[in-house]
Amino acid sequence: MTGVVFDIREWTVHDGPGLRTTVFLKGCPLRCAWCHNPEGLSPAPQVLRSASGERLVGRTCTSAELASILNRQAPLLRDNGGVTFSGGEPLLQAAFVADTIRRLEGLHVALDTSGYAPEEDFRRVAGQSHLALFDLKLMDAQAHRRWTGLDNRPILRNLAVLAEMGTPFVIRVALIPGVTDTDENLRAIARHVCALPGRPPVELLPYNRAAGAKYAACGLEWRPPFDETAAPNANLQPFLDLNLNATLA
Ligand code: SF4
Repeated sequence: MTGVVFDIREWTVHDGPGLRTTVFLKGCPLRCAWCHNPEGLSPAPQVLRSASGERLVGRTCTSAELASILNRQAPLLRDNGGVTFSGGEPLLQAAFVADTIRRLEGLHVALDTSGYAPEEDFRRVAGQSHLALFDLKLMDAQAHRRWTGLDNRPILRNLAVLAEMGTPFVIRVALIPGVTDTDENLRAIARHVCALPGRPPVELLPYNRAAGAKYAACGLEWRPPFDETAAPNANLQPFLDLNLNATLA
């Protein structure tokens, strides 16, 4: 079975517990206006062009090859961290990810997902993972369509599935100034999380201002329709008011 990977980053510390190797899978169905991985949007390998030259991003490999690369790191990762599948949206290549996980030798697996996937794919990969990092963006359906291009109903349905599955998970909210970081949206997320079985922890993530630099290389225009210079509203209070475990990453 083959898949397309655009990066394998070692020694990451923000993609799950401990030291991790993060695998970035190509392709995402969403088009978030703030996406900081534009090279991960297209599912196919692509050539990035910049002043320093051309670079092919994305390579096709088999699940056996990828698992072999990750298993070579097992002596270091097994007791200190693990492997995280990110993207893009890793569930766009759910069968490939599932087959890679099946081949791993005793490694802790985290799934970093937008939650946008067919339920069957979501259940399959989340069920093989030890931890899910589940991104929530906007609770208002219309705003979600406006800022990401897609409906949030499949995401909320998979979140409900996850909460019933028993796989530990963390809700992550990227604070996009004036978009996801409004008090109204943060309160709506807090209410939604509070009603989930297990009341999972929440992490608020500051906006990554490095996003714009990669767009030109991808042949895309970077014109964020929000003020990226504004300080994000890192307001934990809506979560603390509901006695949720919430932190600012
Ligand atoms: S879900 Fe993530 S990878 Fe996909 S468009 Fe949004 S920010 Fe980018």
